[in-house]
Amino acid sequence: KPGGNKQIKPELMEEHLKATGRKVITRFPPEPNGYLHIGHAKAINVNFGYALANNGVCYLRYDDTNPEAEEERYFISIKETVEWLGFKPWKITYASNNFDKLYELAIELIKRDKAYVCFCTPEEMYEMRGGDSRGARRECSHRNRPIEESVADFVKMKEGRFKEGEATLRMKMDMQSGNPQFWDLVAYRVMYKPHHRTGDKWCIYPTYDYTHCLCDSFENITHSLCTLEFRMSRDSYYWLCDALEVYKPVQFEFNRLSINNTIMSKRKIAKLVNEGYVFGWDDPRLYTLPALRRRGIPPEAINGFVQELGVTTTSSTTIQVSRFEKYVRDYLDDHAPRLMAVVNPLKVIIENLPDDHLEELTIPFKPRDPSMGEHSIPFTKVLYIDQSDFREQDSPDYFRLAPGKTVGLLYVPHPITCIDVKKDADGNIVHLACRYDDGPDKMKPKTYIQWVGESSKHESPIKLAEVRIYSHLFKSGNPESNPDGFLADVNETSLDIAKNSLIEIGMRNVIDNALKSKPHLENVRFQAIRVGYFCLDKDTILKEAEGEERLILNHIVTLKEDPKK
Ligand code: ATP
Ligand code: MG
Ligand code: MG
Repeated sequence: KPGGNKQIKPELMEEHLKATGRKVITRFPPEPNGYLHIGHAKAINVNFGYALANNGVCYLRYDDTNPEAEEERYFISIKETVEWLGFKPWKITYASNNFDKLYELAIELIKRDKAYVCFCTPEEMYEMRGGDSRGARRECSHRNRPIEESVADFVKMKEGRFKEGEATLRMKMDMQSGNPQFWDLVAYRVMYKPHHRTGDKWCIYPTYDYTHCLCDSFENITHSLCTLEFRMSRDSYYWLCDALEVYKPVQFEFNRLSINNTIMSKRKIAKLVNEGYVFGWDDPRLYTLPALRRRGIPPEAINGFVQELGVTTTSSTTIQVSRFEKYVRDYLDDHAPRLMAVVNPLKVIIENLPDDHLEELTIPFKPRDPSMGEHSIPFTKVLYIDQSDFREQDSPDYFRLAPGKTVGLLYVPHPITCIDVKKDADGNIVHLACRYDDGPDKMKPKTYIQWVGESSKHESPIKLAEVRIYSHLFKSGNPESNPDGFLADVNETSLDIAKNSLIEIGMRNVIDNALKSKPHLENVRFQAIRVGYFCLDKDTILKEAEGEERLILNHIVTLKEDPKK
């Protein structure tokens, strides 16, 4: 509920309104200490979305106050990811740009008798805050020292005259409050770490609790939107703005997004990466946004999904991963062209067709959607079907190809019947001899399967270097609850690689069309009919004038929901 600005001085509010032109201003404030994940996509949508819906603007603010964990690559990736989701920050700012101002306000805070330099160790601080027994809370002896002494010691902290951990600046709040966010929070700590933006200039760094609300205030944020765990911080946020008599934004909370069957904690993902369970932070089995991007998940599907979840529910709920996948599947069903591909090819020779038989079949990229256009594929004497569509042992409930059995080939006018299974000396199937049933007494097939024809004229089919089929990275819904730890919950067979796969020639049009509008490989998305949705992996090498081509496909999502999940 708004109303937090009741006590604000009228001239400050005037200043704010002048600065914003009565505009809504929000910010997305990530700490650049890791890659963004799908939970952040919700925070991005909430902040940018709220601003957009109200004709306002949204900042991307790097909350870079902890040089220990922050790295250049995270700054770059965060910006790229926000833009990839389709949002354009009004301005990009850095909490560290305000280090001078924050320091001056800290001096001011001491002078107002609202902060003091404290020499308690972390253990002592913990004890005085009630300790393990959550007992009585006590104020420490440093709290009531003369103001000038604290000012002098804070200057000394800045000058590097204390060791790490020796002194902190603490806010003089209310040790007897029922809210732990009032137990004299630390505002500054000594840290001898160079900062990627301010270098060696500082050896004291402000904490989140001190920095966040002041940066919101400096930027005239009207709605400080944050996740529910900051509810207790709301009052301390207001406390600090009031203590310094600066413009006070209003904080609103929304619930965090978490998804089952995956892990979002940075420390745990780092373990999966470092111990080789996944290829990297953008391994398509993870739920970081770079991973979802690489896997081919369209940003529109992520935005749609998090928007549909909404911000109204108050408790933090875990969303089933199947719900996310359904959203992605529905989106791709509408938007992805269809192609025929065989992941594990089995050669078929149609004996009653002439060697040079070449029939051009015109097929749509999406049935019943002429806007997607059409293309032609060769129907030839030699073609390939998927191994999974053939069985040597027939059974009455099986409707695909088997010796003596008839099956339809998608888009081909007449069915084929398997008349012989040709094997090598070791008994491996080399090819199936089939007959094209275009006579008057042909059977109507029960099933139609995908296939690709072999025609030198069309350099078809196209060979795929690799098809990567992913399934869930963890065996259980809540990997963290595995008694042997989340690593023990990793599904060893979550990646399946096929190396001899083939795809029809329509792939060329799909690549050209997708890259024309958005020049990134993951935008080349399609449905492999009867198999699943796929995109090109970023390691793909497309054919240049000369040189090797390496097409690598990532499995995005299955065609139907997996009943096991
Ligand atoms: P994590 O430790 O998972 O990275 P965080 O809160 O430390 O989370 P920040 O980079 O500080 O991550 O967060 C930037 C913004 O994104 C914050 O406003 C935070 O509340 C929000 N956010 C982070 N995780 C989620 C989530 N799972 N759902 C919704 N919002 C989130
Ligand atoms: Mg974080
Ligand atoms: Mg954080």
